[in-house]
Amino acid sequence: MYRPRFFETEELVPKHIYDVRGERSLELLDERLLKTLDDLRASYGKMTVNDWLWGGANHWRGLRTELSPVGTPYSQHRFGRAADCTFHDIDVESVRQDILNNPGLFPHITFVELGTPHLHFDVRNCTPIKTYHP
Ligand SMILES: [Zn+2]
Repeated sequence: MYRPRFFETEELVPKHIYDVRGERSLELLDERLLKTLDDLRASYGKMTVNDWLWGGANHWRGLRTELSPVGTPYSQHRFGRAADCTFHDIDVESVRQDILNNPGLFPHITFVELGTPHLHFDVRNCTPIKTYHP
């Protein structure tokens, strides 16, 4: 099992899942997503996905279930293949442009949302990399 170096499991799933599955929540997340999160963190410094563990309101920026009040029914988040990330040491647009201009840098990323205040990336089954402006 791939265990992220830089992220607590609680950061990647909503509390109600972690309460039931604990560390086995990682089994619900795609290994390509977890490796890419670590690679992004190693490249760009501190970043946040969910923050409920520290009293924040974010539960749904990693894995989403049918209980999620946000997102679409077939969002990649529902399959453990997407994350919404906030960066602390660099602006999100720089990260996005880096990813899009250097496709070999994060080889598992196949989809990036444009123009959002966070980085949504996912590792869906497609090539070449797709973008979408929500
Ligand atoms: Zn997203």
